[in-house]
Amino acid sequence: MSRPSPDHRPSTTPSGRPRPSFPGSGLAKGLAVTLRTMTKKTVTEQYPDTLPELPPRSRGVIGLFEENCTVCMLCARECPDWCIYIDSHKETVPAAAPGGRERSRNVLDRFAIDFSLCMYCGICIEVCPFDALFWSPEFEYAETDIRDLTHERDKLREWMWTVPAPPALDPGAEEPKEIAAARKSAEKLAAARAEAGEADA
Ligand code: SF4
Ligand code: SF4
Repeated sequence: MSRPSPDHRPSTTPSGRPRPSFPGSGLAKGLAVTLRTMTKKTVTEQYPDTLPELPPRSRGVIGLFEENCTVCMLCARECPDWCIYIDSHKETVPAAAPGGRERSRNVLDRFAIDFSLCMYCGICIEVCPFDALFWSPEFEYAETDIRDLTHERDKLREWMWTVPAPPALDPGAEEPKEIAAARKSAEKLAAARAEAGEADA
């Protein structure tokens, strides 16, 4: 069996004749590759001196919008890594009107995500029926102690401030129900305040 030549070409031509080689041809080829590479635009990013330009919807870390969370436990049940920890207790809410029924509601005691286990699949965000979890593109939260990668509710709330605003609606698109409801409540509140102001004057 013939050994391959240093330039990785077969040492013989397809017809079986020895391939002619010139002294120093390997060196010339090597230099040509070096020159070609030197003149190409570099793709190396000098992180952390230069921060990468990430798409706004990058999966960096998960933020919790606690006010929307009803402690339904769906995210914790669906998480394939079981890295969402939720504790809660029940509270009785008195009846809104005399003769009405008391209600019970879940109150959140603990909400934590262990990012040392999380595989950033996004299932928890997808399944949350109340829009309480969001992706933030922030990714600089490396720790020297693995236990610090479990982010408790306060930390998860802080990440909410880094969640980018949703993209603008298409022209002529219908206003989303939640925004319409929030706008109506704000208008009602403003009208009630204005009325109260007039009554005081
Ligand atoms: S992104 Fe996936 S692995 Fe991470 S907490 Fe959510 S469901 Fe679990
Ligand atoms: S699925 Fe949403 S509402 Fe339900 S516990 Fe998880 S974050 Fe809270």
